[in-house]
Amino acid sequence: MRVAVVGGGAVGTTAAYDLARRGADVWLYERDAVASDAASTGRAAGICYDAFADRRDADLARRALGRFRDLSGEGFSFTDCPYVWLARAGDDSRAAAIEEQVPRMREHGLDVALLDADELAARFPALETADVAVAAVARDAGYLDPAAYAREMADRAREAGATIKTGTEVGVTTGPDPAVLTPAGERAVDAVLVAAGAHAKAILAAAGVTIPLKPYRVQALVTGPTDPAVPMLYDATAGVYLRPRGGGVLVGDGTEPRAFDPDDWKQSADDDFVADAREHLRRAIGVAPAVERAWAGLCTATPDRDPLVGEVADCVYVATGWQGHGVMRAPAIGDAVAREVLGADGIPGFDPGRFDGDEEFAVAEGMAVE
Ligand SMILES: Cc1cc2nc3c(=O)[nH]c(=O)nc-3n(C[C@H](O)[C@H](O)[C@H](O)COP(=O)(O)OP(=O)(O)OC[C@H]3O[C@@H](n4cnc5c(N)ncnc54)[C@H](O)[C@@H]3O)c2cc1C
Repeated sequence: MRVAVVGGGAVGTTAAYDLARRGADVWLYERDAVASDAASTGRAAGICYDAFADRRDADLARRALGRFRDLSGEGFSFTDCPYVWLARAGDDSRAAAIEEQVPRMREHGLDVALLDADELAARFPALETADVAVAAVARDAGYLDPAAYAREMADRAREAGATIKTGTEVGVTTGPDPAVLTPAGERAVDAVLVAAGAHAKAILAAAGVTIPLKPYRVQALVTGPTDPAVPMLYDATAGVYLRPRGGGVLVGDGTEPRAFDPDDWKQSADDDFVADAREHLRRAIGVAPAVERAWAGLCTATPDRDPLVGEVADCVYVATGWQGHGVMRAPAIGDAVAREVLGADGIPGFDPGRFDGDEEFAVAEGMAVE
């Protein structure tokens, strides 16, 4: 079976590997480089956890984490690290949401626990906990370098027989016989998977398929050295996350909840974001080390915040719409969509057919607790 994969990010490279190792004749087309710095995977924070209150999301996350650990080795390494999320005093609705969601997560078999401020302080002395109303910790969590992961998956795909064509921007056609439109001409295939992140909507629109997808801008920075005992942390009240990185910390937020043109957005971080993130660091860990690098990137939103994964036209598939969770799900989603392309059932609830495609919707932040 000849399968074209469009996009060399975390999802496309994983799917290409999973298709190729099952015997498909895979050609992956990437308009730039694998894990391009102009796309999302090359700009992501690499935080991974299983702390989802929805059973399907929890199962996918668990599978993804297990696979990250199995695949971790020379090409990239997955570092186990607990994931803490919390609400601060006065933020009653988010505190209540955390208290309601953790028991549900435990029902799904997740290793998560509620902590009060004292327990949090005892467990993670690097955190400032005085005004914490409620916290939770997920032990099945960790981080990785997303670009290194995608490059490793591309290497494995190549070893399994896939052809990886970088520097090759393509379009797709629909109809009884799908094809990819390459600079060298049209190439007939048996199936196409569009895993082109923020560009998936435009690629499919040119082929007459409409999906409800909005790219939105987020920001991150990395600092110089600080206390290495910092866990991964999401402050739901502030809407800011952080994780250890190379002796310092990586901090993320600066979400602009509106639709962006995937070819026209400011790639550097805003001064306001950097100042706010440093202020947040002081509040979260008591220090604000010097900022070494700050940047922006795109995430993709859908009307119901669930991804779009599945067939959108005969033998044409899409995998996008991660709401900021595409890296952490890539090992599970890449495998699931590869199996779907080869004839298995898709992921219930992620089928793009649940939408007409032209829905009006507001961009909502992916990592929110509510
Ligand atoms: C600052 C930031 C922090 C983030 N942190 C996290 C995190 O901690 N955890 C997490 O899970 N997620 C995180 N995300 C989200 C994550 O980056 C994305 O969900 C994920 O990378 C999506 O992967 P993808 O393979 O679907 O898309 P992408 O990585 O965007 O890859 C799509 C690829 O398609 C290529 N392409 C586009 N058009 C064409 C074409 N016509 N022809 C050929 N190729 C084409 C692009 O060049 C690109 O390489 C973060 C994102 C940002 C910006």
